[in-house]
Amino acid sequence: MRELNMTAPGKFRWVERPKPTLVHDDDVIVRPYIVGRCDGDQIPTSAALLRVVRYAQKARLLDPILREGFGPKPYAEPCAIGHECVAEVVEAGPGVTEVAVGDKVVVPYQVSCGQCEMCGRGKTGLCSTTRREDTGNTRLLSWYGHGAATGPYGGMASDFLRVPYANHMLIRIPDGLDPLRVAAASDNLSEAWRCTVPHLRTRPGAKVLVVAGLLPAVGLYAAGIAAAEGAEVDYLDSNPRRLGIAESLGAVARKRSKLIRFPKPHSLYDHSLYDHSLYDIVVDASNLQTGLLHAVRSAAPGGACVIPSYHLAAYTGVPMMHLTFNDLNLHVGMSHPATSLPEVLEWVKNNDFPAEKVTTALVDWDDAPERYAGRTTKLVLHRPPLT
Ligand SMILES: [Zn+2]
Ligand SMILES: [Zn+2]
Repeated sequence: MRELNMTAPGKFRWVERPKPTLVHDDDVIVRPYIVGRCDGDQIPTSAALLRVVRYAQKARLLDPILREGFGPKPYAEPCAIGHECVAEVVEAGPGVTEVAVGDKVVVPYQVSCGQCEMCGRGKTGLCSTTRREDTGNTRLLSWYGHGAATGPYGGMASDFLRVPYANHMLIRIPDGLDPLRVAAASDNLSEAWRCTVPHLRTRPGAKVLVVAGLLPAVGLYAAGIAAAEGAEVDYLDSNPRRLGIAESLGAVARKRSKLIRFPKPHSLYDHSLYDHSLYDIVVDASNLQTGLLHAVRSAAPGGACVIPSYHLAAYTGVPMMHLTFNDLNLHVGMSHPATSLPEVLEWVKNNDFPAEKVTTALVDWDDAPERYAGRTTKLVLHRPPLT
C-alpha cells in the first residue's frame, strides 16, 4: 500500500509499505478518504522552518520537553504524515462492537485506550496506556503522523491505517453531516471548539478576539465557531483571503499590516492602549511571541486567554503580574478529541456550521506528493470512499 512520507525537509512522496493487519481483538483497519493538513504540519512542509526548529532544538533555544515529545530530530525522515482524517472501516477485529465495516468515522490524532484513569477523566491526550505500549519505554506523546518518536502508528495520508482500541477511538459521523465539513475534526476543528465553546458557556454574551497568524485554520474555525455561538468576534490577521473567510463565518475582520507585526513591544506594556478594545475571551492562534503578548494584553479583567498556539521557545515572556492584577485565566493545554468529538460533530451538524469554508485547497489524493507542501491555509486531500 502507499503511505505519504516526508523523505527530506519539505519533500513528500508515496512510499510502499506492507498493509497493516489486525493485532488485537479490538483493532480495526480503516481506509482514510479525506485527510486534512493540520496547521502544525507547517513545520515538516517548510524545509526552512524544519531546519530552524532542528537547529534551535540543538542549540537549546526551545523548551526541553520538545525533545521528549518529538525526539532528538523532530520529524526524522522518512516521516509518515497526516493526522486528521475521515475514514471508512474496512476490517474489524472480533472484539469490535461499536463500529462495523463500512462505517464512516473520524480518527482522533492522539491514540488512547479509553480505560485508564486519564482517559476516565476525559484527558485522552494523556492516556497512560498508550504512553507505554509497544516500545516498553515511556513515551510522551502517542500521535499519528509525527514520526517514529510519537509511536508506531503511521500517518493518516495512507491507503490503510490500523486503529487500536477502536471501540473507544472511532467516532461515527452523524447521518446527514457532510464528511468534507469535518475534514479537520481529528485535530484543528476540535481544537478550535475547545478554545471557544466551553469558555462562551461560562461567559454568555462575551466579546471575543482571535489573534490569527501561524495557526491559520484553527484561528478561522475558532472565529466561526464563536460567531455561530452568538458572540461578537473580532478576527485579527494580515492575510486578505483569510480575512474574507472570517467575515463569511460571521466575524468582524480586523486587518493588520504584516504577519509578524503587532504593536511595538514597548507599547505592549502601555495598558492605556487597550482600554477601549478589551475582550472577554482572547484566542491566540498566532504561534508568535508578539501575538501571545498582544493576546494577553487584549483580555478584559476577569477574562480568559486561550492559547492553542505552540510556543516552542524556552522563553515566552508572559507578563505574569498583568495576569494577576487583571485576574486573567490563561488556558493552555491540548484538546482531547477522543473525548470531545461526539459533541463536536453534533455541534457542527446542529449549527449547520460551514467548516468547509476554511478549506482553501481541496486536492486529489493522487496529487498529494506535489501538493502537500503547498502554501495555503487549509489543504484537504480526498478520494471517493469505497462504499
Ligand atoms: Zn495537529
Ligand atoms: Zn487511556
